Parts: sequence; structure tokens; C-alpha cells
Amino acid sequence: MLFKYFENPEVITGLRKSKTKCDTCKEEKLCFDAEAYYGGENISSVCPECLANGELYDLDVFTCEGDAEELKRQLKITDPSLTESKIEELADQKTRELEKTTPKIISWQDWSWPCADGDYCRFIGYGSKPFYNRLAPDGNGKKLFADSFYYRIRDVSDEGLWDGLLPDKEIKDYEDSGYYSALFYVFKSLNSDKIITMWDCD
Ligand SMILES: [Zn+2]
Repeated sequence: MLFKYFENPEVITGLRKSKTKCDTCKEEKLCFDAEAYYGGENISSVCPECLANGELYDLDVFTCEGDAEELKRQLKITDPSLTESKIEELADQKTRELEKTTPKIISWQDWSWPCADGDYCRFIGYGSKPFYNRLAPDGNGKKLFADSFYYRIRDVSDEGLWDGLLPDKEIKDYEDSGYYSALFYVFKSLNSDKIITMWDCD
């Protein structure tokens, strides 16, 4: 399945190990575990097709929380001709799409989904030295890493993280991520090559 804001979630976050009944289509399928989703209603499983097709729009259930204030600020910069009400409308639309159709990132802490260039970013995987080196156009992953911290966490990050905490080995899937008590979450702008990093620990 293709998800606008999440690359390859079946691998990165994983599906349940065995088939369960999807709470929206009622079919027995390999589903995402939805027990930690937010909102006033509780569901336990949702299949990738239902999530991608927007079945959560009709429920009081959402999978994450977008950084909507920052999104509005960016929208204003990317297109100064937009009126306040158009910005509200656009931000609301994008935020609902993010929160209703995107698989959940399993993280240690709750934080809001980052945006860049006037849209939410796509989650592309867990950070590691080889991953940043591969993403850096000049191969200098350490510099890319240092420059990529989201504005909300920039003051608490420093270069010591590269040597001290960032994994030496690639984290390929959710199972791999379980070996680390600090995780780096790598996002990419939908509108440029910009890389954004979030991180947290237990
Ligand atoms: Zn379903």
C-alpha cells in the first residue's frame, strides 16, 4: 500500500503477526495494531487498505498529531497570497489527511508530526549512521544529521549524539528498532530533498 506520509509502513512499523478482524471492513486480514491510536473511539485493528482509503474519517480515531501551527506558518511563507481562511482550510485538510490515513509511528514519547515546505513530511525510517551517509548528497551524513533536527528539538540536540547515540548499523524494521532505547526518526519533505530528524528515548 502507498501512504503519502509514511514510506513502507508494513516493514518499518509492521503489521500484526496473525490475521485479525479489521474494525472497519470486518474482514480477517493482516492489520495494523490500532490499540494505541488516539481519539474518543477505540478500535483494535485496521487493515492497510482501510487506513489508506480513509475509513478513519468517519470515526473519532486518529493515528498521530500534526504540528498544525507550524504548518500554517510555513503555508503563509510558501504562498504569501493565501488569505487567512484559505490557510486555515488548507492546514485543516492536510492535518486531517495526515492524522486519519497515516500509520502510527511507534515511538518512546508523544511528539507532533513535523512539516517542511508547507506540508507534512514523509517518515522514511529510523536513523543510523549508514542511513544518513546514504541520504547525504555529498556523503557527509554527520553534517546532514546535525542540520536536520526539527526546530522544536534543536536546542536539546548537539553533535555528541552522532558519536554517542546514533546507531552504527542500519535499522531495517520495527524488530531491529527494539534493540535501542534512543531512536531517531527520519522524515523527508514531500516538496524538496530536505531531511528532518526527530528523536526520543525511553
Ligand atoms: Zn479493513
